[in-house]
This record gives sequence, C-alpha cells and structure tokens, in this order.
Amino acid sequence: MSVAKYKRVVLKLSGEALAGKQGFGIEPSVIQSVAKQVKELVDLGVEVAVVVGGGNIWRGKIGSEMGMDRANADYMGMLATVMNSLALQDSLENIDVQTRVQTSIEMRQVAEPYIRRKAIRHLEKKRVVIFAAGTGNPYFSTDTTAALRAAEIEAEVILMAKNNVDGVYSADPTIDTNAKKYQTLSYLEMLNKGLAVMDSTASSLCMDNDIPLVVFSIMEEGNIKRAVLGEEIGTVVRGKN
Ligand code: UDP
Repeated sequence: MSVAKYKRVVLKLSGEALAGKQGFGIEPSVIQSVAKQVKELVDLGVEVAVVVGGGNIWRGKIGSEMGMDRANADYMGMLATVMNSLALQDSLENIDVQTRVQTSIEMRQVAEPYIRRKAIRHLEKKRVVIFAAGTGNPYFSTDTTAALRAAEIEAEVILMAKNNVDGVYSADPTIDTNAKKYQTLSYLEMLNKGLAVMDSTASSLCMDNDIPLVVFSIMEEGNIKRAVLGEEIGTVVRGKN
C-alpha cells in the first residue's frame, strides 16, 4: 500500500482551478475531479484541510479598479470563496467524504465559524475541513489564508494546486519560451526574484514559520495524491536560503 509522506496537509485551490476552461464560475466536471482527488488523500489516511480561493467569481482588486471601496470589494471576494467552498463540500459529500466548512466571517446558517481547536478535532476524525472567507480581513489573499491556517493547525505542507502552470518558473512560461522550471527553491529566492507564485505576505509567513510548499498542476488527475506521496512533481519551496 502507498504510504503518505505527510499526516496533515493544507490544500490551496485557487478559484480558477474550479472554473475549468471557461475561466469563470464553477465547472461541474472540474470540481468533481478535484473532489475525487481529495478523497484519494482521505483514503490514504491523510488529514486534509482545504483553502479555496474566489478569483473565478470576484477579486477585490477588480472592484477597486472600478472605483469601489477596496475593503468592500474584498468582502465580496471573501463571499465568493464561501460559494466555492459550499460547492466543493457538496461534491465531496456526493462521494461520501465527510466535510465541515468553517468561515472566517460568521454566517452560522451556512457553515460553522472558524474555531481552530474544532477544526483540529474534525481533522483528527478524518473529516475534510474547508476554510472559507479567507482570513476574514480585507487586503489579504487566500494564499495568505493557506499559510496562516497551515501554521495554526500545524500542517506539514501546503499543496498549491494550479490550473495554469505545473510549478515555479524563472519567468512566465506562456510568454517566455526560455523560462526554466525550478525543482526546488527557497522562499527568499522566490521573494528576491519576484516570482509571483504566491503574494509576498503569504511567502513571508511560510518562510518565518518553516512551512514547505509544493506547487503543481491540478490539470493532471492524480497529482494531488502524487504530491502527498512525496513524488517529485512541480516545485518544492522551502527554507530561507
Ligand atoms: N480576500 C480578502 N481577504 C482574504 C482572502 C481573500 O479580502 O483573507 C478577497 C480578495 O478580494 C481576493 C478575493 O477574496 O481577491 C478572492 O481571493 P483570492 O484572490 O485569494 O482567490 P484565488 O486567486 O485563489 O482564486
């Protein structure tokens, strides 16, 4: 039987990873595939927390560029992550995976509020915990949420599933044909080189708390499991130097 390298992980799914080719909203076949891949981890005995983004529905920056108040626009983004989280919960429960959604902004009729100890208890009972509504604060991102929650629940790694790239490159591979893919990289290198894998707040938080990150493509089915088994896929980011 395959043995997982990690006991507890945070899986970061960007909103776009749920949108599929259409680039907006939620594509049922894509979210079902993601749910199936998450189930594979649960079946391996891994404790899985998921942080879901909202960029497939709304980004605060877009609203602010349109002249909206930035904080308000960001709250809309956080609400978008709640929609995605409920959709993922539904897909997981359809294939008999037990889940709990916890939101950083209270909405008790919809989901539990975020309570760290309760989240850990759910994980110990092998329930998938989906963290919704980001950090609950404007001016932050769901990447930062993943870093923060990973530190709080003492996850061993953040698995960053991307829909448009299969790792960290020296330049944008869709523009620069000479872009080189890194096998490993330190957070400091990533910050110094300005590589836009995650925002700098999230990178610093991961660096300061020694949380490794695996960046890989979700478009290839089975990749989340490969990452958890410690196979060399994508790019591993860790450490200061
Ligand atoms: N957001 C926020 N605070 C947070 C997390 C998210 O204000 O702690 C807002 C922000 O406006 C962001 C939107 O929610 O643009 C969607 O999140 P994100 O862009 O991180 O989603 P992703 O790119 O992963 O789909």
